[in-house]
Amino acid sequence: MQAPTPRSPSVRKWSELLGNSRTRQVLTQAVSAGRLHHAYLFSGPTGVGKYTTALSFAASLNCLERSGDVLEDACGRCTACKRIEAGQHPDVLEIAPSGNFIKIDQIRAIQKAALSPPYEACYRAVIIDQAHAMTEEGANALLKTLEEPSALTLLFLITDQPHRLLDTIISRCQRLRFGALSDDEVARALPDVLEEPVDEALLKVAAGYGEGSLGRAVEVLESGMLEQRQELLEAFLAVPADRANQWLETAERFGRGNSELEAQLDVLIVYFRDLMLAGRADRGRVINADLMTTIDKGVERFSLDAILRILDTLTEARGRLKRNVNAQLIVEGVLDQIRQPS
Ligand SMILES: [Zn+2]
Repeated sequence: MQAPTPRSPSVRKWSELLGNSRTRQVLTQAVSAGRLHHAYLFSGPTGVGKYTTALSFAASLNCLERSGDVLEDACGRCTACKRIEAGQHPDVLEIAPSGNFIKIDQIRAIQKAALSPPYEACYRAVIIDQAHAMTEEGANALLKTLEEPSALTLLFLITDQPHRLLDTIISRCQRLRFGALSDDEVARALPDVLEEPVDEALLKVAAGYGEGSLGRAVEVLESGMLEQRQELLEAFLAVPADRANQWLETAERFGRGNSELEAQLDVLIVYFRDLMLAGRADRGRVINADLMTTIDKGVERFSLDAILRILDTLTEARGRLKRNVNAQLIVEGVLDQIRQPS
């Protein structure tokens, strides 16, 4: 039988979590009222803190310094906190898809664990990440646990695709919906999750690219594409329409492969959205705020109609790239649009 693995660490202090404050308040109040639900469903887009909230909640509940019945920040120093942070607490367990699915053996292992009282914690916390990936067998097995809950085990089902869960599972959980973070919240949260310090202006740009998702903002920063925006935009905008090959060569300078091409399309999409904002004097919301000269050039060159048409093409191209359509065809389509009379 496959044992649930200790989760990878990313505990935050409860009071310092960003965004979705009402959702967190529901949990804080449940602790004060002594009315914790045995199973929670955290649904919402990826990268907005669903997993971190579940883990930080488990840490706050089980911190040895906690006194009384209120939820406080985990101290970060006691043995429970240290073990949770290190992913080695025997009562804080995570399961996640192994391959594409969460299999029945993984669910059975949780059920077995739930039969005995927690080893050392007040509550055993089981976090099921990407719960929608449970196989049908796994989901049916989990139902049994949800129907006969153990008082000291809390389940956290985490998903960005709740429509893929059985209705019978959803109805047995208390559902908490997570929404997108504000750009400001993403920018403030970024330094804590990045290995290396990043310039503040670039953090703001990354937050804009993240569209409310901290996870997405981190991905964009890690792609290295942000630092190359200006060079990339100028190179692409200079390619003649009948020279799709030249764009492909340009693209290869910025990295081969579909994910790099996708990142490049993102840069173009955000740029043309910025042109739309700057064109209607909404400069405060421009994401590439550090590239105003390049943006002003674009505003002079493209009419609003042209910008909308190009944005449509770029968005469609990004979708086609995800479906693995030939890159050459995609590039030709985009260049056609950019080069048409503006
Ligand atoms: Zn502690």
